[in-house]
Amino acid sequence: MKTAVAEVSLSALKHNLLQVKKLAKDSKIMAVCKANGYGHGLIKVAEALSDADAYGVARIEEAFKLRASGISKSILLLEGFFSEEDIPVLSVNNFQTVIHTEQQLAQLEQSNLDIPIKVWLKIDTGMSRLGISINQVEEFLARLKACPNVSDDIVAMTHLACADEIDNEFNHTQIARFTRCVKAHNLSKTSVSNSAAVITNLFYNSTWVRPGIMLYGVSPMQNSSGSENNLIPAMTFKTKIISIKSILTGDKVGYSGTWQAKQDTNLAVIAVGYGDGYPRHAKNGTPVWLNGREVPLVGRVSMDMITVDLGPHSQDKIGDEVILWGNELAIERVAAWCDTIAYELLCQLTTRVEWKYI
Ligand code: PLP
Repeated sequence: MKTAVAEVSLSALKHNLLQVKKLAKDSKIMAVCKANGYGHGLIKVAEALSDADAYGVARIEEAFKLRASGISKSILLLEGFFSEEDIPVLSVNNFQTVIHTEQQLAQLEQSNLDIPIKVWLKIDTGMSRLGISINQVEEFLARLKACPNVSDDIVAMTHLACADEIDNEFNHTQIARFTRCVKAHNLSKTSVSNSAAVITNLFYNSTWVRPGIMLYGVSPMQNSSGSENNLIPAMTFKTKIISIKSILTGDKVGYSGTWQAKQDTNLAVIAVGYGDGYPRHAKNGTPVWLNGREVPLVGRVSMDMITVDLGPHSQDKIGDEVILWGNELAIERVAAWCDTIAYELLCQLTTRVEWKYI
């Protein structure tokens, strides 16, 4: 049995999907489960979210894993295909694809397929990442519609750069650009919203929403937690105390002695480190949950261990369970202490961790 465990609640995933349904009543739901289901386990996540209308992944290898596990529902490649050889594979396996470059379009036109591919046309409305510019839309649509390798139910999509900042005016700029484009070209199928836009209801009446992080019970917004948004964190990341020791005022802790005891105190050494995916950049003070309270991380995160200050009068014992994030301790708070986002913490757990599904 492994020491560090990522316990994933399948009922929490289902609850979070229901929350999406309540918020985006009139839209179909594409459950985004790229990057191994945001670190929760691709197949288990997809099975738990079987009431979603489709799955969104980043890479073709993720789509294959879903199909190989027997999932027959629609799967969209959110980054599109990267090589010409993938095109017949998409067609045969019923993978839908995002199109965002002239090169992809030309390759589709040159293919010779028995079964046409469903295409999502990605329009860059201001994120300046993937997507064609608004003034290319007319030409792309004409060519896609004329292409026998493309099915005729094209979805127009865009991605918001700042949806997690509720008051950011740029959200409205992007939405206005997209809405104008959709009207100008009479596009009937659209998709805009990620989790943040679903939660804040930034965009109404789209055919598809594309939530990711909220399905895992985590808030996309800075300064709020999943539970504050009626979500249930799906993952509890936990491990154990492997040593307890007393130290004296002035003693330094860990590599480079970055923390010094201000009083005589007790330390717990905990079996988790950056070798498990616990963030190396967690600062002194990062909370962990132990026996019903938060205790602060002290000293540097090592490959296999962290140390926490139990205080001078602790009753904690070797073998006690420690929760690094989960229901008791919001991952969004841990991420803030590490100058990162919960997305990254979830995705970077390593194979040394055991995943358990409850
Ligand atoms: N749509 C696209 C195109 C994405 O790239 C992502 C994730 O990065 C999502 C939807 C889901 O975003 P979130 O996890 O913030 O809901």
